[in-house]
Amino acid sequence: MEWGISLGYNKRAKSINIKIIRSFTIIIVLTILIIRVFINVSFESAFEKYVDQSNKSEVNHLVFDLKHIYKDGDWDIRTIKALGEDAISKGIALKVYDKDEKLVWSIFEDEKMLSNNILKKINDNMEKVEKGWNDKFKEYKGRIYDDNGKIVGYSYIGHYESTYYMENDMEFFNIMNKFMLFIALIAIVGIVIISLVISKSISSPISKVSKMAKVIESGNYKNKLEYTSNIKEVDELIYSINKLADALNDQEKLRKRLTTDISHELRTPLTSIKGHLDVIIAGIWEPTNERLVSISEEVFRITKLVNDLTNLSKLDIGQDKLEIENVNLAELVKNIVYNYEIEALDKNINIDYELKDIEILIDKKKFSQAIVNLLTNAIKYTTDGGSIYIKTYKDEKYTNISIRDTGIGIPKEDLKYIFERFYRVDTSRNSETGGIGVGLTIAKHVIELHGGFIEVNSDIGKGTEFVIRI
Ligand code: ADP
Repeated sequence: MEWGISLGYNKRAKSINIKIIRSFTIIIVLTILIIRVFINVSFESAFEKYVDQSNKSEVNHLVFDLKHIYKDGDWDIRTIKALGEDAISKGIALKVYDKDEKLVWSIFEDEKMLSNNILKKINDNMEKVEKGWNDKFKEYKGRIYDDNGKIVGYSYIGHYESTYYMENDMEFFNIMNKFMLFIALIAIVGIVIISLVISKSISSPISKVSKMAKVIESGNYKNKLEYTSNIKEVDELIYSINKLADALNDQEKLRKRLTTDISHELRTPLTSIKGHLDVIIAGIWEPTNERLVSISEEVFRITKLVNDLTNLSKLDIGQDKLEIENVNLAELVKNIVYNYEIEALDKNINIDYELKDIEILIDKKKFSQAIVNLLTNAIKYTTDGGSIYIKTYKDEKYTNISIRDTGIGIPKEDLKYIFERFYRVDTSRNSETGGIGVGLTIAKHVIELHGGFIEVNSDIGKGTEFVIRI
């Protein structure tokens, strides 16, 4: 069976939980990476700019303050020291020389350890931010004037040339990085929890449906999945599975009934034929014409049954191409009535008709079969002494063939099923009528092939009317 090929599971198929968690995690990690790159580009460059400017403004302040370090013909060492110590805490090294280039004060002399430590720390910090950061420390020489505007000495202000971070800048930078890492972790944990909840809500109903499908697979069609999820698609799936179980259950019932029906339909005439032949062979009965006719009738019953099955199987394998020709409907119906009049008369049923002269394009053989099926049903399901009325007529839309009987009628609840294959209303009432419930199926199919349809009206105990509309 072709199905067998696809029955095996794909070994690499993952559970829906894993798939959802994995996809969500990939999405969030990618998002975090993108945000990270964005922050690197925008935030870090803005921060760098800010640090750079504040460093420059420190240098400018220092240059301005240096104007006041020479007073009354002498250097104000205390102020120089205060300025120098303040400056080094911002990564700026100050040296002051007099006009003869003799050293007055240098942070490297006065606070040797502190200044070297600070400059080294800056180097270390920057190394952390930017691998291989090795900037040059550069000194800028400036003049120092007294109150009269005379040059009294020179200042050397040294700092790293490009942007550098002091301890507090680094601290801010690290806090930002940790904060971002924290947010990323929270986001990942959050997304894993959310995806777990989502995937559980999808996978648990699906696995319920899948268990139900397995139950159906094992032939337990009566079970129903009494469960509603809050997912529309899953509910639709549950609905379809339940419908499928119903359909399979119906099919199973039909199959069982069909087997019994067919064997019954075959056994009855065969037993009768065998009985007749046995007695004739034993020489007890003469093979009279009457007896041979009775055997022939039984053979006809079997042939009819086999024909029905053949027609049905043709319908299944799609051997239903139409051979369209122009046919006079009145003549067609009249011929059919002639052929079945004797059968009707046997039951004392009168067939009346009113046939309009209508030309119609149909497959004569197949179309006749549909009418025959409706007419023989009318004869079968009409009690002795009843009547059948056949009428052909045209209205604005359709050509109509109506076959009305005064028979036993069809219960309302059965009407929607009678065209289904092997469906028979109340098998007990049909036991003598023969048939296996395919006559209407074939008729409906043939009429639909012609682009038409069959309507049915029925009153139980009063009669039934089938109308072919084409
Ligand atoms: P069957 O071989 O049993 O006649 P059909 O497909 O021709 O199968 O018809 C299906 C069922 O519809 C029949 O079993 C019968 O109960 C009901 N039916 C069909 N035609 C008539 C009718 N004219 N009057 C009453 N019942 C009918």
